[in-house]
Amino acid sequence: MKRLQTIPASERCYEIAKEKDQPISSYYGEDVFNLTAMQEKLPRDIYLLLVEIIQDRRKLDLTIANAVAHAMKEWALEKGATHYCHWFQPMTGAPAEKHDAFIEPIDGGMAIERFSGKQLWQGEPDASSFPSGGIRSTFEARGYTAWDPTSPAFILKRGIGTVLCIPSVFISYSGEALDKKTPLLRSINAINKSALGVLNLLNNTKAKKVYATLGPEQEYFLIDQDFYYKRKDLVLGSRTMLGFAPPKGQQLEDHYFGSIKERILSYMHDVEEELYKLGIPAKTRHNEVAPSQFEIAPIYEEANLAVDHNYLVMDTLRTVAGKHKLAALLHEKPFAGINGSGKHLNWSLSDDLDNNLLNPGKTPHDNIQFLVVLIATIRAVYLHADILRASVASTGNDHRLGANEAPPAIISVFLGEQLTQIIENLEKGVITSASNGAIIDLGLDKLPVLSKDSTDRNRTSPFAFTGNKFEFRAVGSSQSIAFPATVLNTIVAESLDVLTEKIKAKGGDVKQAALDVIREEIKVIKPVLFMGDNYSKEWEDEAKKRGLPNKKTTPESLGDLVTEKALVLFEKYNVLSRVELKSRYFIRLERYIKEMDIEAMTLCSMIQNQILPAGIDYQYKVASSIAAAAGVLGDAGVLKAQKELLGTVASLVSNLQIAVNDLKAKNEKAGAMHNEEKKAAFYCNEIKAVMADIREKADTLETIVDNTLWPLPKLWEMLFIS
Ligand code: ADP
Ligand code: MG
Repeated sequence: MKRLQTIPASERCYEIAKEKDQPISSYYGEDVFNLTAMQEKLPRDIYLLLVEIIQDRRKLDLTIANAVAHAMKEWALEKGATHYCHWFQPMTGAPAEKHDAFIEPIDGGMAIERFSGKQLWQGEPDASSFPSGGIRSTFEARGYTAWDPTSPAFILKRGIGTVLCIPSVFISYSGEALDKKTPLLRSINAINKSALGVLNLLNNTKAKKVYATLGPEQEYFLIDQDFYYKRKDLVLGSRTMLGFAPPKGQQLEDHYFGSIKERILSYMHDVEEELYKLGIPAKTRHNEVAPSQFEIAPIYEEANLAVDHNYLVMDTLRTVAGKHKLAALLHEKPFAGINGSGKHLNWSLSDDLDNNLLNPGKTPHDNIQFLVVLIATIRAVYLHADILRASVASTGNDHRLGANEAPPAIISVFLGEQLTQIIENLEKGVITSASNGAIIDLGLDKLPVLSKDSTDRNRTSPFAFTGNKFEFRAVGSSQSIAFPATVLNTIVAESLDVLTEKIKAKGGDVKQAALDVIREEIKVIKPVLFMGDNYSKEWEDEAKKRGLPNKKTTPESLGDLVTEKALVLFEKYNVLSRVELKSRYFIRLERYIKEMDIEAMTLCSMIQNQILPAGIDYQYKVASSIAAAAGVLGDAGVLKAQKELLGTVASLVSNLQIAVNDLKAKNEKAGAMHNEEKKAAFYCNEIKAVMADIREKADTLETIVDNTLWPLPKLWEMLFIS
């Protein structure tokens, strides 16, 4: 096989025409049934009612739904839509859509397009094949989807297909959440209530609503599609399970923020055109640390919208890649030896007047409010680091968290030097002057003013305060941000409530009471604060002394989702009932097992069908060459090194065969295990080790075997040719 000739350069430089030539602002949101479209298409009274529904001030009723459905249909037809679908987020981790045509037959053999309020409101997909973690046994298969008016409907175009998508929740007939959006929406309610409680207590009566804001920075890799389809591990397992690390990786630091190649920039432009039409505020794009790694970051949005939009970003990254003959890899660790991909989830709270509650303010009142919210968040992370960690546990993320890469599995909080100083001063009750003379006026104490620039960065921290928001960096690149956001909202709601109660209990001047409570809390929660290098061995030891959890793998960590502490918490805030939370635990455990099984079987077949045959071919080539040479030269000493080479190849081939047999046997053993926890642990502790051993042998063979015989695209090719 002449390997590289399979993708001639002419085909790699793929020309693609720009669809839009106008400024972005002229088409931004054109495929969204947003407030502007609603205003245009709906009778004024219905429009105003719908706005009230969106703002949660009114319940939906069928008259409104009918009017909205009609307008939505008219709008969608103008956009070329033939179908509609309830677009929902089952626990598979990817959005689901079942399309129905608008068409309805009428008398006379004709048809008309119709879309009723009922169809808009509720859908009934046959839901028996979605994971439910035992909530809904198959005999009561039906779940239903219900329109979520708080996230606007949009048009999805793929190829020549055009569909109206209606963001929806997915629930069982007995009312249990079968999806990721329902608990998210519930957590949004919870944090609203708890945060308003604090604001009111602190005499802030202007804000009527508080919502979480999310800004997910999405990392991904791009490789040529031709390479992608030649690798079974990428196609089936989303990551390369074999491949010798190229001599040049990211060590020259020449990719990060480097100039973006032509083909890649065309792709990015195309992705962004799609996102802008969908009203997704893609703002930042750049080359990331690893070769062929990139990032796209939108401007933050209200949590529900941000979650939907991140799904659409991931979907668009994948589908547009095909148009450019590229493959977008969203896996957390597509290539060993270089950085993996995460999704830094920026999180904050905002009131309905657009005040960021994590923005240190200018007035004494703002500062107290800021400190209470800040301390509540840190307290939440301290108490529930285990749940946060579990919320990002996955097969892919196990290659990042707690492995040889950032961030670690220990969840600590980074505050930056200045804020740390402020916290320490608060705890001690001392008033120090700031180096720059600036002072936060708390009305009581005086503290150095927090300037944004001085929240210096610590890239190793899994949960960092970055000026006016927290950045949760342990989220995996391929996962939905719905659950991590749900967890954050819920745990912070709880701590806000606790602080509110404690401040109330003190009585007297509320500002003084708040400061006293903050002081007491800091003493308790400070073990979670860490400003040093999170990757160091010393931190691991230190964290252990501080009693912080350090669960390095998914099977170890997942159990923390269903501790009594977690069950009580989620139940108390009406975010997830016990049954719902347990179902999520089972689904994730099962997913881990299935993914590990797919990986193991994929590796087996690649070794057996591709690597071993290449090794044997080469072994034959060397053996026959030695035999031929010996025929001419006699058994001369000059052939000694070649015989050693043959010996090395032969032993690698034999040992690989033995190892693959072992992997097959172990995988069968796992398949026969009935206890899911034990099975997951077996994959994690036994099977992964065999897979690593196989990889080492195969990768060594790759360095020896004739290049023309090697059946797989190599890592250097995939990472550097585009
Ligand atoms: P960096 O890589 O330096 O952290 P980026 O600009 O890549 O910065 O990403 C920062 C992300 O944080 C953006 O998505 C931004 O919109 C988001 N963000 C900024 N302010 C907030 C906020 N108040 N709440 C949530 N996300 C925010
Ligand atoms: Mg960034």
